[in-house]
Amino acid sequence: MKLVFPSVRRCAANIYLRLQSALLGPAALSILFASFVHSASAQESVDVPAIVPQTVSSEPKQRFEPQWWKGNLHTHTFWSDGNDFPEMVAAWYADRNYNFLALTDHNILSRNQRWMGLDQIESRAGKGVLDRYQSRFGKDWVETREAAKGTEVRLKPLEEIRGLVERNGEFIMIEGEEISDKAEGKPIHINATNLAQLIQPAGGTTVVETIRNNLRTILEQEKELGRQILPHLNHPNFGYAVTAADLAAVLEEKFFEVYNGHPGVNHLGDDKHIGIEPMWDVINVMRLAYLNAPPIYGIATDDSHEYHGRPGSRPGRGWVMVRSQYLSPEHLILAMKRGDFYASSGVAIDSIQLDSKTNQLALTIKPSTGQPSTGVEYETHFIVVDRPEKGSIDDSIALHDLKMESLPKAYVKTKLKGTNPSYQLDGTELYVRAVVYSNRAPADPVWQGQREQAWTQPIGWKIDD
Ligand SMILES: [Zn+2]
Ligand SMILES: [Zn+2]
Repeated sequence: MKLVFPSVRRCAANIYLRLQSALLGPAALSILFASFVHSASAQESVDVPAIVPQTVSSEPKQRFEPQWWKGNLHTHTFWSDGNDFPEMVAAWYADRNYNFLALTDHNILSRNQRWMGLDQIESRAGKGVLDRYQSRFGKDWVETREAAKGTEVRLKPLEEIRGLVERNGEFIMIEGEEISDKAEGKPIHINATNLAQLIQPAGGTTVVETIRNNLRTILEQEKELGRQILPHLNHPNFGYAVTAADLAAVLEEKFFEVYNGHPGVNHLGDDKHIGIEPMWDVINVMRLAYLNAPPIYGIATDDSHEYHGRPGSRPGRGWVMVRSQYLSPEHLILAMKRGDFYASSGVAIDSIQLDSKTNQLALTIKPSTGQPSTGVEYETHFIVVDRPEKGSIDDSIALHDLKMESLPKAYVKTKLKGTNPSYQLDGTELYVRAVVYSNRAPADPVWQGQREQAWTQPIGWKIDD
């Protein structure tokens, strides 16, 4: 194999980044990096058949250890109804140690030529938005033109901004769309993460049919193009559009937003509607106890639209932490499909482990490094649903006619303080999940009295063959 120096150097740089992320000492890494480049340049333009295996065997095992990556999968820009340029939005997240971001505008992908009038830009984002854009990226980056109706600014497609904002092994952009449909007069919004072709809303006569039709289109694209695409149902309580029974019924939907930072999505419900978190348990009880189907997983997102500090759906309120070896769309999505992630509005978790021998679920919470970093306390609620007796739920009743009273209820079985809470499963659980609360408000709370949270996925469930 003929190897030329630039590719060797790139390879060495990649290895360096990965090693760095494997938490080795920087000094040792610099030495390793320097010696590798030295040996590579000594072998420039010669046949070096063994160079790849050699580097693999000389690396520590940690290189392949999974790590947590932070990301937001629901974000808007000027491409639809958000109020900043896509690069500015990406930079907001990249500057705050996010590792991945999906721009998910309504029924559009950020592709091709698109110009937006400065008057429209300023009416949505206020004066100064163009100045801030130019001062962040330079006047040569920003494209303007004079049109009949005045100045216009070009909205850059995703493929043009990737090179500006992505950093190898640190921050990636993932293409996405918020498929924004309607049924029975209610908004049905479904995000498709890592799609490759625009999907038009598929429509339908009922809520369930509409969710199903859109999911079918997404899953067809996934299959056809042979790529990982992750569909998730957005904000079920927005317009109180989607009920627990609707979501339980559509088994193809494996993800939904257990937390969306938009203040208008009725997270807590009202007199007539349950909040999103209790809804999650109702969906999963229906799925596991009635339909003998796997649970739906919970995602937290920003659904950010407002980037200038004004009231509205601001960034930074909800995210997912995904445990994956590699920072790539495919690996992140595969990890999420395995349930190897948690949702957060402020609390960070280092590890979530279910010991297969002892059946003990143990969490390690990462003490906060934010301000104020002292005095932050954690309380973990282990939420349990007891497995119902066989035959205790009448399966002749249609799912949508099931009465909540006839279903087993989720309840807080134990509350534990500290950063190492654990729960001993005894085999009677339909599932258990943990919610960790801190004693402080999130950096940008949505409701009064809100506390930072992290939500694990349901654990310890099984379905009969
Ligand atoms: Zn939406
Ligand atoms: Zn949205």
